[in-house]
Amino acid sequence: MLRVNEIFYSIQGESTFAGLPCIFIRLTYCNLRCSYCDTEYAFHEGTDLTVEQIIAEIAQYNCKLVEVTGGEPLVQPECPELITSLHNSGYQVLLETGGSLPIANVDPRTHVIMDLKCPSSNMEKKNLYENISFLRQHDEIKFVIGSEEDYFWAKNLLTKYKISERCTVLFSCVFSKLTPVTLVNWILQDNLPVRFQLQMHKFIWHPEQKGV
Ligand code: SF4
Repeated sequence: MLRVNEIFYSIQGESTFAGLPCIFIRLTYCNLRCSYCDTEYAFHEGTDLTVEQIIAEIAQYNCKLVEVTGGEPLVQPECPELITSLHNSGYQVLLETGGSLPIANVDPRTHVIMDLKCPSSNMEKKNLYENISFLRQHDEIKFVIGSEEDYFWAKNLLTKYKISERCTVLFSCVFSKLTPVTLVNWILQDNLPVRFQLQMHKFIWHPEQKGV
């Protein structure tokens, strides 16, 4: 059984898959409490479903791209089994994880999109840096940047772990805390090998709209 907060069909708002129609499976619970969290409703609320029930539920959508997200999906021990079953059912699977729990057991067919939490999240100490060595070329690391301190911190990590050589690196702003133009100017000034992104869904719908 997995506790599922919501299942919905929308446009992927982030990552190199941004703009594509995608089914989202949002699992309940999170072991972190980021200062900028916009999905606190996923901390506790949810319905218990089996892997088979989840796969039956998403079959109603004419879409083969699915993202498993949260909360923190890897809190639930059955999450890797869900991901493997989705692959075996013919889905292309994205996993969005906060980067504090091991990704070693995640099916290698998965596109992992992993955060490294910056200082202004107040969760920097929870980063599990060993995860970096399990990332593959098709995976993505995301830095959500809320201040100049965050930017310099992320830039140092890029050098320390040679992250850009390992996988795609995404830089985005903490929504309404750092302006996109500020971050873009820093990236251009330093000629960083990163991909700037906006949370597209927050511009299409109201920023606090759930289920999109
Ligand atoms: S990891 Fe995600 S869901 Fe958990 S507190 Fe941070 S932003 Fe919220």
